[in-house]
Amino acid sequence: MKGPLTAALLALLSCICSAQDTGSSPPGISTPASQAKKPNIVFLFSDDAGYADFGFQGSEEMKTPNLDKLAQQGVKFSQAYVTDPTCGPSRAGLMTGRYQQRFGFEENNVPGYMSKNSAADGSEMGVPVEEKTIADYLREQGYASAAYGKWHLGGADKFHPLQRGFDEFYGFRGGARSYFAYDNNAPSALELMERNFGNYSEPEGYLTDALASEAIDFIERKNAEGKPFFVFLSFNAPHTPMEATPEDLAQFPNLTGNRKTVAAMTYALDRAAGRVLDTLRKLGIEQNTLVVYTNDNGGPSDRNASVNLPLSGTKSNHLEGGVRVPFLMKWPGHLKAGTTYSHPVSTLDLLPTFFAAAGGKTEALSNTDGVNLLPYVQGVNESAPHEFLYWKKDTRAAIRAGDWKLIRFPDRPAELYHIGDDEREMVNLADENPTLVRQLFKKLFAWESTLERPRWLLQRKFENYDINRMDHYWPKPSDTQHQHEELLLRPVTGH
Ligand code: CA
Repeated sequence: MKGPLTAALLALLSCICSAQDTGSSPPGISTPASQAKKPNIVFLFSDDAGYADFGFQGSEEMKTPNLDKLAQQGVKFSQAYVTDPTCGPSRAGLMTGRYQQRFGFEENNVPGYMSKNSAADGSEMGVPVEEKTIADYLREQGYASAAYGKWHLGGADKFHPLQRGFDEFYGFRGGARSYFAYDNNAPSALELMERNFGNYSEPEGYLTDALASEAIDFIERKNAEGKPFFVFLSFNAPHTPMEATPEDLAQFPNLTGNRKTVAAMTYALDRAAGRVLDTLRKLGIEQNTLVVYTNDNGGPSDRNASVNLPLSGTKSNHLEGGVRVPFLMKWPGHLKAGTTYSHPVSTLDLLPTFFAAAGGKTEALSNTDGVNLLPYVQGVNESAPHEFLYWKKDTRAAIRAGDWKLIRFPDRPAELYHIGDDEREMVNLADENPTLVRQLFKKLFAWESTLERPRWLLQRKFENYDINRMDHYWPKPSDTQHQHEELLLRPVTGH
């Protein structure tokens, strides 16, 4: 087995230096740039949702009719990855189109949890102001942009969305908050709802619904102005705290505990997404709007009772359940409805994809790590968008090369999985493929050597927590299929 595998890897390695697709369109495919009217872009983003927890992902417990319809009308990606299994770094990579470790955003930015040796802490942890965001790029293309909901890319004023290319903001700067208005008892300013800059104003009603209302108002105003718009609708649902309305809880009489609550929170998320999508239809701009839905990291099953089946792992580890996410893209007339795209893609690709759809020349993106997905999804380019994908947090890291994935741990030798045959990461093939292991290890190190050191570091004890959590949600090969599902479906409670 070793010979062919090594040959396959060498073939992959030989491709590293080949030019990646520049996004230029071949004959017969209409280019966005040639259109008289630039498409609007609506990006629906959830927080800590389980990989399995949507109807379009196969869930029979959750009720997500609106996102299911989006899947039917667009493209579902079966191997979409975030750049990190935690909120802040995942969002930093997505928003810049660059591996966040390039600018030191390697670890999650959670004030109160950081090592005292961090060079930055508190509100100073954010995406460096030199980095360009999606909104910066789209502003150059004449777009009006708004961000709603969770930011988590820096609490200081210099990191504020209005300083990062967005024209409007209604949200909170931190990583989590209540779904109901604070009554003079918010834990910190990072959790207060802020309208544009410094105008604090708590929501009326349930936050998920309020965020949709804000996005709808923006869409209606920009449409009236005839200006192309970009909406970043960054729901904090279904991140903790576990809070839902009595009406939404009543939708799930057969569920109990946190599982019932996460179902209700996801139901509200779906309703909110549906209201935004209905608005596009009512305004007659559905055809000219690119819509993406995805989620920022794997579900933390021990915290919000999310389920990542059929994958092992959770939020904060590099198993598939930590980094592979539900991902939908719809653009009528450009992307074929009801299809599935199966090559691995990354949220790094959103910036180049949005920029290209907006008419930008992808040559302007030379320092980004993503690719414009449109020619791939349209079937014009049948090769895989990425020869390699990488993840890294402290000692831990992973590399995806074709169907192979090497995972490096702090407490055991590296392991090798064939994701194509074994997406649950049950059969470690490292011992059978020592040459491939060494080659991927080298390749991973070569990538790491291009990165900056972290600007801040979590306290070391959280590495133990993450490893224990990973092992808990990683069935053993000797377990039966039933045991796997029992384990993954019944999260630890009271953790
Ligand atoms: Ca998250």
